[in-house]
Amino acid sequence: ALDIGHDLGRAILNARTFEREHQLVVELQELDTYKGQLIATVAHELKNPLSSVLGHLEMLESARDLAGTTRGSLAAMERGAQRMVKVIDDLLLLSKVGDPDNPVIPTPVDLSHVLDEVIDLVELSAQQKRLDLKVEVPDGPVLALGDADELDRLCANLISNAVKYTPEGGSVTVAIDVVDGDVVFTCRDEGIGMSAEDVARLGTEFFRSSNPLALAQPGTGLGLAIVRRIVERHGGSMDIESDLGHGSTFRVHLPAA
Ligand code: ADP
Repeated sequence: ALDIGHDLGRAILNARTFEREHQLVVELQELDTYKGQLIATVAHELKNPLSSVLGHLEMLESARDLAGTTRGSLAAMERGAQRMVKVIDDLLLLSKVGDPDNPVIPTPVDLSHVLDEVIDLVELSAQQKRLDLKVEVPDGPVLALGDADELDRLCANLISNAVKYTPEGGSVTVAIDVVDGDVVFTCRDEGIGMSAEDVARLGTEFFRSSNPLALAQPGTGLGLAIVRRIVERHGGSMDIESDLGHGSTFRVHLPAA
């Protein structure tokens, strides 16, 4: 009788602990939803006035009779405002790709074409750093299943990071393969690399490594959070290998069309 009473007591305790933990999970999920809504609202509210500031700056810059110093200040203000627009756009995209009520509508996307467009955009900065930028893509289309704009962003964020975090003269290789029915996108660099602790935190919003070589580059810590969410909502997976001081490899598996 004592044993039964003891077991019963334990079962009641376990049930209470379970209930408390469940409640905590629900509260954390609610807080996370609230945080997402707050970020999206603030970003929306900032976007309109900032567009107006940019419009006026451009108008002022087009005046003919400006002193050199005034022109310089206006250009600096415009660069600052453009950077803010980029952060706001990233925040809006982060909230869009994290919204479970707005799932991907999967369509066949030619990743090889996506890669061509992204390479066009980063080629100039790669050339300026004298990087050896290699692209290894099979002949013909490679069809992944997903949203074209989001897959474009995924590739663009990973490749621009590789270019950004690789010192002058280094090499960056991007490749697409089809492995076991998955489309695999790989972005490898021989750049500054990351410690295992940093790799474990990648994809967390606003995370930036404390490595001074990484902090010397401009950034917000939103790029990989966006990548992680895009990969998740496409039903894909990503693995990251990195060696501090030697380079990093990001490999993304996506469903093939
Ligand atoms: P950021 O805007 O700071 O580049 P990301 O979310 O794209 O934001 O990346 C987060 C952090 O991860 C970066 O600040 C950098 O410390 C590190 N990181 C990302 N990609 C690389 C890479 N290819 N090589 C080394 N470090 C990287």
